Amino acid sequence: MTSQRTRDRLVQRLRDAGIKNEQVLAVMASIPRHLFVDEALSHRAYEDTPLPIGHGQTISQPYTVARMTEILLGEQPRLGRVLEVGTGCGYQSAVLSQFVDQVYSVERIEPLYAKARNRLYDLKYRNVSCSLSDGSWGLPEKGPFEGILVAAAPEQVPQALKEQLADGGRLVMPVGGRKQQRLVLITRHGDNFVTKELEDAWFVPFLSGVQR
Ligand code: SAH
Repeated sequence: MTSQRTRDRLVQRLRDAGIKNEQVLAVMASIPRHLFVDEALSHRAYEDTPLPIGHGQTISQPYTVARMTEILLGEQPRLGRVLEVGTGCGYQSAVLSQFVDQVYSVERIEPLYAKARNRLYDLKYRNVSCSLSDGSWGLPEKGPFEGILVAAAPEQVPQALKEQLADGGRLVMPVGGRKQQRLVLITRHGDNFVTKELEDAWFVPFLSGVQR
């Protein structure tokens, strides 16, 4: 149930659903998603569905991970420094790590942060650095970032995240309330921020403060 055939089937599904970046698909075929969820759920790890990871949170649907990675990369094959807000179980971080020199990932729920950090280390994703922090503030000491990817939906784009984008950098995130959210892509050109609204989205809410 976790065989390469099962993974390849998921990738074909993602391709059919409209994911075009073959490099992203190849990376998703190679990453063992079943090692990012509880053993009791590992038999469902290659379904295109979100799964619970505890603390009321979910591992994002594979389609969503692929789509956001594809949007973040745009025409670029690789990026330098990327900030991820909402580490969760670390799966999206692992995918990003294959396209990025250094991933900085922040999570606000302490047990999720600790588990993801250990898991990413054990699985040898050494270019992911995890922090326990509220992503509303970004990570100013590590920026500016060529890419920022947010995996939880606030009502509005936090100003700090825009400020920490490098010139030409891309910020991909869902924006909206519990009922209606939209994926947006914000590109920075000097002091100008160009916002493009993309498809509807379903993410957990973006919350403030650290939870221990
Ligand atoms: N990419 C993750 C998705 C996890 S769900 C994965 O593949 O598993 C989104 C995560 O965002 C949750 O773990 C939630 O706790 C976290 N989150 C929500 N608001 C946040 C904030 N302000 N700062 C940091 N993390 C936040």
